[in-house]
Amino acid sequence: MTELVIVSGKGGTGKTSLVGSLAALSRESVLVDCDVDAADLHLILQNRLQQSSDFIGGKRASINEEKCLKCGICTEYCRFDAIKYEFSADSPFSERYVIDKHACDGCGVCVRHCPEEAIDFQEVTSGEWYLSDTPYGPLVHARLGLAQANSGKLVSLLRQQARSLADEKGMDIIIVDGPPGIGCPVIASITGSSYILIVTEPSMSAIHDMERLLQLTKHFGIPTGICINKADINPALTSHIESFAAKQQIRILGKIPFDPAVTSAQMAGTNIIDHLADGASTNLKHLWGEIREELMEHSDNPLQLKQEIIKPGK
Ligand code: SF4
Ligand code: SF4
Repeated sequence: MTELVIVSGKGGTGKTSLVGSLAALSRESVLVDCDVDAADLHLILQNRLQQSSDFIGGKRASINEEKCLKCGICTEYCRFDAIKYEFSADSPFSERYVIDKHACDGCGVCVRHCPEEAIDFQEVTSGEWYLSDTPYGPLVHARLGLAQANSGKLVSLLRQQARSLADEKGMDIIIVDGPPGIGCPVIASITGSSYILIVTEPSMSAIHDMERLLQLTKHFGIPTGICINKADINPALTSHIESFAAKQQIRILGKIPFDPAVTSAQMAGTNIIDHLADGASTNLKHLWGEIREELMEHSDNPLQLKQEIIKPGK
């Protein structure tokens, strides 16, 4: 199985549009949207929801006031300062200890140290994950609840579901739309993957993020290539990216020009390939050709992958 992960560091580089186009070009890949805080890949893939499931992100503590003897021991153990002492003359429990559900990290330390067993510790639903059909293959995606943590855990769950689905359907390629940044969700998206494509653009902030992502992919030893989006908007910075990549021995797999049709494709709820016959669409087809070469080179099973990506119509 071959897992291609597309990341960009900062938002706004056109990564999701690009992933949608690669999905349209690859056909019959399992698609995953790991940007669980702001999932939007489904919006350009005409998805039809097939299944939704709760995501249990962890546990949260709450104090049973009838059992609590107000000794305050639990506050001494909470490293997250989530347990507060409150006094209210109006309450039947005029003084009490309460747990701030937004501050509780679910570590369970207070539960172990409460002498009265007065702290409940229950699983919490932190979001939902979905399975959709699209014209380009099944899509696994999710929505993390507001102010919920555990995005890395949700990303890992999505990738696991995508692998099971690929096994079940006999599909050999998984295309992952990675989350922004370089933190825990990105690490959860790339670890153990086959190949990483960094989408950058000729701007100082995007270049800075690309360099940080390259450090990360180098650290994990994952083969990596670069695509420069909107490459014609600043030729000097595009040359800078090219020389930097040459020094790092990283291949530039494609350069996509700025094309207003990309925005009109998004507004129409579709991908660039289905929306536009030429312009950026031509460059994206070239990019997919280069990616296929890289995937073949880095696949665990190049023969099977070769059969998968040279099917008629690809
Ligand atoms: S340790 Fe238990 S009994 Fe003591 S204040 Fe906390 S919840 Fe109440
Ligand atoms: S579970 Fe951990 S973070 Fe939550 S209140 Fe207890 S000690 Fe604090």
